[in-house]
Amino acid sequence: MNMAQHPYVYLFGSSRTDGAASMKNLLGGKGANLAEMCRLGITVPSGFTISTEACTVFTEQGKDAALKLIEAEVLQGVAFVEGEMGKKFGNAADPLLLSVRSGARASMPGMMDTILNLGLNDDAVRGLAAKAGNERFAWDSYRRFVQMYGDVVMGLKPVSKEDHDPFEVVIEMVKKKRGVQLDTDLDTADLKELVARFKALIRARIGRDFPTDPWEQLWGAVVAVFESWNNDRARVYRELNDIPQSWGTAVNVQAMVFGNLGDSSATGVAFSRDAGTGEDLFNGEFLVNAQGEDVVAGIRTPQQVSLVGSRRWAELALVGEEERRAKYPSLEELMPQIYQQLLHAETTLENHFKDMQDLEFTIQEGKLWMLQTRNGKRTGAAMVRIAMEMLQQGMIDEKTALQRVAPDRLNDLLHPIFDPKALKAAAVIARGLPASPGAASGQIVFFADEAEEWVKQGKAVILVRQETSPEDLRGMSVAKGILTARGGMTSHAAVVARGMGKCCVSGAGAVHVDYKARTMSIGDKSYAEGEWISLNGSTGEVFAGKITTKDAELSGDFGKLMTLADKFKRLEVRTNADTPEEARVARSFGATGIGLCRTEHMFFEGERINAVREMILADDEAGRRKALAKLLPMQRGDFEGLFREMSGLPVTIRLLDPPLHEFVPHDEAGQKVMAQQMGVSLAKIRMRVDDLAEFNPMLGHRGCRLGITYPEITEMQARAIFEAGLNMQAQGIDVKAEIMVPLVGTVREFNAQAEVIRGTAAQVFAERGEGLHYMLGTMIETPRAALVADSIGKQAEFFSFGTNDLTQMAMGFSRDDAGKFLPEYLKKGMYEHDPFRSIDQKGVGLLVEMAVQKGKAVRPDIEVGVCGEHGGDPASVAFFHRAGLDYVSCSPFRVPIARLAAAQAAIGE
Ligand code: PEP
Ligand code: MG
Repeated sequence: MNMAQHPYVYLFGSSRTDGAASMKNLLGGKGANLAEMCRLGITVPSGFTISTEACTVFTEQGKDAALKLIEAEVLQGVAFVEGEMGKKFGNAADPLLLSVRSGARASMPGMMDTILNLGLNDDAVRGLAAKAGNERFAWDSYRRFVQMYGDVVMGLKPVSKEDHDPFEVVIEMVKKKRGVQLDTDLDTADLKELVARFKALIRARIGRDFPTDPWEQLWGAVVAVFESWNNDRARVYRELNDIPQSWGTAVNVQAMVFGNLGDSSATGVAFSRDAGTGEDLFNGEFLVNAQGEDVVAGIRTPQQVSLVGSRRWAELALVGEEERRAKYPSLEELMPQIYQQLLHAETTLENHFKDMQDLEFTIQEGKLWMLQTRNGKRTGAAMVRIAMEMLQQGMIDEKTALQRVAPDRLNDLLHPIFDPKALKAAAVIARGLPASPGAASGQIVFFADEAEEWVKQGKAVILVRQETSPEDLRGMSVAKGILTARGGMTSHAAVVARGMGKCCVSGAGAVHVDYKARTMSIGDKSYAEGEWISLNGSTGEVFAGKITTKDAELSGDFGKLMTLADKFKRLEVRTNADTPEEARVARSFGATGIGLCRTEHMFFEGERINAVREMILADDEAGRRKALAKLLPMQRGDFEGLFREMSGLPVTIRLLDPPLHEFVPHDEAGQKVMAQQMGVSLAKIRMRVDDLAEFNPMLGHRGCRLGITYPEITEMQARAIFEAGLNMQAQGIDVKAEIMVPLVGTVREFNAQAEVIRGTAAQVFAERGEGLHYMLGTMIETPRAALVADSIGKQAEFFSFGTNDLTQMAMGFSRDDAGKFLPEYLKKGMYEHDPFRSIDQKGVGLLVEMAVQKGKAVRPDIEVGVCGEHGGDPASVAFFHRAGLDYVSCSPFRVPIARLAAAQAAIGE
C-alpha cells in the first residue's frame, strides 16, 4: 500500500483552492498555476488536479491499484465542480462537461495533451442543445469530443499513409459530398452524420463501442493521461533530457467553458509582452465564436486583443483602417469591459510571477474565464529585452535577469537571420548538423577557387563540398555559407566556419555531391551548380531557392546584459582566432585574450602554401631551413597583427599541429601544378604524398611530433613570435605572448620543445639586445597528458585543454567519422548528447578535473584554460567553472554566449 501523506486530488475554484504555484512537483506546471490563479482571485473554470504521485502509483502498482486509491477523491472532486458550476456531471438535461489535460513538472512533448467536452453522449447532446439554444454548437462539440477521445484515449491510428488522420479523412469526405470547403460550413445534419461515422469507424477498427457513460469516459481519459507518461516517445524524451521517470504527470480535470456559443463568446491567447521583440506591450489574438484549437489551427484570421496591436497588424497585413474596424476589430474595441478585465488579469499575473506570461482565455456569453497561464516562450532578442527591462522596472534582481536568458539563444542576436515572412514559403530539402549559426542564401558552387571567382563577379555563393579541407579556406571565407555532406560539429568546415562567424551546415548525410557532373543530389532530386539554395546554420536546415535575410541588431540591452554578466562571472572568456580580423570581432564581443591561434591556418594564405610545400618536399634539414626562411617573415607579420589587435591581452599561439599531408594536393592535377612550381618531377611529388599518407592521421605524425622530428619548424615559429613581439613592443604595444605545444603525451616531449623555444628566445633577445616576457605551456589533449599532468605541470607554465582531441582519444570516437553513427547513437540514447559539442562530464570531464588538480598540486599558480570547441557550450562552461579553470576560449561569435554562461555558472554555485 502506498502511504502517501498528501491527498491525491487537489481542488481549485472560487470557494476553495488546495494547491499553489509552489506545488509544481505534485501538481505539474499547469495544475499549480491554475491553483495560483484562483488564489489571486482570477476567474478560472473550477476543477481539480490529480497529483503526480497518483501517476507514480499507476506506473509502479498498476491501473487497479491507482484507481482504487484515487476513486473516492475523484468523486469528491467532481461533486465540488458540480457545486461550483451549478450543473451535474451526467445529467442529460443540463450536463456539466469537463476537460481533461495532462501536465507534468516540465512541459513534455509526446504526452497526451487535451480532451474537451467530456461527458457528452446521444442524450446529453440534446440537453446541451436545448440549454444553449444552439443545436449546431452542441453537435459540433460532440463531434470534436468523439474525434479527440477516439484518437488520444481509444487510440485510433492510421492504417495507411493516405489515412494520415482517419477522422480528418471522414470530414474531408463529408465536405466533398456536401460541396463545402470549411469545417464551419458544415451544418447540424452534417455534424450528426460525422458523429455517427466516427463511432462506426471506432467500432470497426477498435472493436469496442464509443463509451456513452460519462464516468466511463472520465476514467478512460484519466488512465490515458497516466499511460501517456509511459509511452515510448515520452520515455525517450525524458532520457534525453534528464527528466526522471519517477516524476509522473498530473491530470487536470476542469469544467468546460465555451467560446463558441455565439457572438458574445470568444477564445484567445495573449502575451503580457511581445514574444518576438520583448516590447512591453500586451498583445494577443482571439476569435469570436470559436473553440480553443481554432485559434491555433489558423483556419480563420484571428483578431488582435489590443487596439495598438490591431493597428500594427493591419499595417503589416495591408488592411485599411476602415476594413480593420469593420472586419477585424480588436477586443479592446469590441468588448471594452472584458478587455479591461483581461488587462487586469495580465498585469496581476505578470507582477505575481515576475515574468512574461502566456495566457489562454475564453469568453462565454460575456463572461471572461482564464484557462491557463505560464511563462511565455520567446526569441533570443525578446529574452534579453524582457530581462533587462524587468530589471530596470525593479521587478527582478540582477542575478535573476542574467538567469532569464538562455546563453545559446544569444545566437539569434549575433548572426543574420531569415526574414520570418519569406521563411514561411520555403521548402526544407535536407537537414544536417547546425555547425555554425546564421542564415545564408547563395548559388551552389562546388570548388573553393571557383567560389572566389564567382564572388569577384559579384555573386553570392554557397560552397557545397563532400567535406572541406584547409585548401578550401579562402573559398570558405568568401562564401555566404558552407554545406558539407560529411563531418561533425568539430569537422574542419564546422570549426573554421564558426571562427569566421560564417553560416555552416555540416554532415548533411542525404546530400550527394558529384564533383564531375557538378551537381548535388538529395533523394531523386538534383541541384546543379548555380542553382540557389539557403542554409540555416542554427537549425541545420537546407532550403531550395533564395530566402531574404536580415542583419543582426545588437541592441543596447544586449550590451547591458553583457556588462552585468562580467560583474558576476569568474571565468575569463578568450577566443580562438587566427587572424587580426577575427581577433577584432572577438574583442568587440568582449573576449579578454586569444586562447588559441592555430598557426597552420596561416600556412594557406596567399603564396605561402608554396613555401610550406617546399619545406615538406625537402630532402634534408638544410632544404627545410631554406623553405622555412621564406615563411618566417610572413608568420612574423601574422603575429604582429594579432599582438596589435590584442594589445594588453594574452595571445596564446600554438605551434604547428596538423599532419603534413594536409598541405599537399591529393589529385593529379594539383600535383602536376605543384611539380611545375617546384621544378621537380611528378613522380617525386607522388612519392612524397604517398609517404605522408597515414591510416589514422589524427593519431599519426602531428602535433609536437612534428616539432620533435623537425625542430627547425618549431625554431622558425618561435623566432617569428619573439621577433613579432619585440617589434610590437617597440611600437608601444603591450605584448603578452603565450606559446603552446600541442599533443604532448609525456613531459619529455614538452621539455624537448621547450628547449628549442627557450634557446630561440635567448638567441633573438641577444640579437636584439632586449627581452620579452612570455609564457610557455602545453595543451592537454591526450589522455596520457591528463594522467601525468603533475609531471608535465612542473615544467609547463600553463595548461590548455584541447577537448576536441581529448574527447576523440578518451572516447575512441574519430572526430572525422563520428558523424556517421553518432546521430543514430544519440537517438538510441547511448549518450545524452554529442560529446564533441557538450563535454562528456562523467568521462572526459574526469580527465580534465584530475589534470587541473595535479597541475595545481605541483604549481599552485598554473594557468588553466580550455580551447576545444566546448569552450563555447554553456553546459560545458558551467562544468569548467566547477572544475576550477581560469578561462574558456571559443570562436568569436560564441564569446557573448560563454560570458553569460560563465556568469550563470557563478550565480548557480
Ligand atoms: C582540441 O583538440 O581541442 C584543439 C583545440 O585543437 P584542434 O581542434 O586544433 O585539434
Ligand atoms: Mg587538438
